[in-house]
Amino acid sequence: MEAAENNPDDRPLWNHVNILEILLRRTARVSCKYCGGSYPRVKAHLLLIHNAGTNVCPNVTEAILQQLQNEIAQAEGQN
Ligand SMILES: [Zn+2]
Repeated sequence: MEAAENNPDDRPLWNHVNILEILLRRTARVSCKYCGGSYPRVKAHLLLIHNAGTNVCPNVTEAILQQLQNEIAQAEGQN
């Protein structure tokens, strides 16, 4: 299982993964709630960013993707 490199920008997405273990301040082992897989780049995986060094989630639908993007936008607005 690979360690995810999570930065604060990804925090909204942490609601959509299972935190398996916090390793270091910015690193955690997580598994995707939608497909159950563990990926090193949660953001790229959940936001279906291709060519980002990870596999995109097979179970994130267009509706889920829109919700994720809204949550990220809201989190950024709070800063
Ligand atoms: Zn997934």
